[in-house]
Amino acid sequence: MDCVYCDSAVEDHDPVYVAEGAIDADPKAFCNYACLTTYVEERGPTDDACCHWSPDGEGLD
Ligand SMILES: [Zn+2]
Repeated sequence: MDCVYCDSAVEDHDPVYVAEGAIDADPKAFCNYACLTTYVEERGPTDDACCHWSPDGEGLD
């Protein structure tokens, strides 16, 4: 499988698989968390789509 972000063969690295949406959706493969994180940051799919969870606990009151 090729990395979604950099098109390398993920098997050569420390692959991470992510399935978006439906539980039977095809997983996306990334070499490692670095590729996954960079892909997410560049694409920004979490904008306005999260459940307002924050690592700082903000918004929980
Ligand atoms: Zn990659």
